[in-house]
Amino acid sequence: METPPLSSLYQQLILEHYRNPRNKAELEEKSVEIHMANPVCGDEVRLQLRITDDQIEEAKFVGQGCSISQAAISMMTTLLHGCSLADAKILAECFTKMMQGDPDAAKDKRLKDLRALQGVSKFPVRIKCALIGFDALQEALKTHAKEETS
Ligand code: ZN
Repeated sequence: METPPLSSLYQQLILEHYRNPRNKAELEEKSVEIHMANPVCGDEVRLQLRITDDQIEEAKFVGQGCSISQAAISMMTTLLHGCSLADAKILAECFTKMMQGDPDAAKDKRLKDLRALQGVSKFPVRIKCALIGFDALQEALKTHAKEETS
């Protein structure tokens, strides 16, 4: 799928992450792994986290798909290193709200580079592309919480 017409600065940032994805590798000692797919576009991700106590020590992913999905996952992983589980959840909620068109969420500086994806919220079929990484993250946090209590 083609990248929607976003402002050129944001477009560049997205393509830069797409071409040079951060943290794209298998994680050796992972606490949790979630596979997520978006069949509409063909996006796929396996998100792997290493969690110690209540903190994400490392986040890596393996995946393929359109520039929006892969750039969003790459940007997301850069924010997760050393992030507490509570903050990771807030980040996921904030990004999801931004993709649903919430203007306040889009101003949240904690999203950093991810704010480049704000324009994608105007293209309903692409929202799933942008959200696949954070959907996987939310699923990973839930799975981890379940394992902790069992
Ligand atoms: Zn996609």
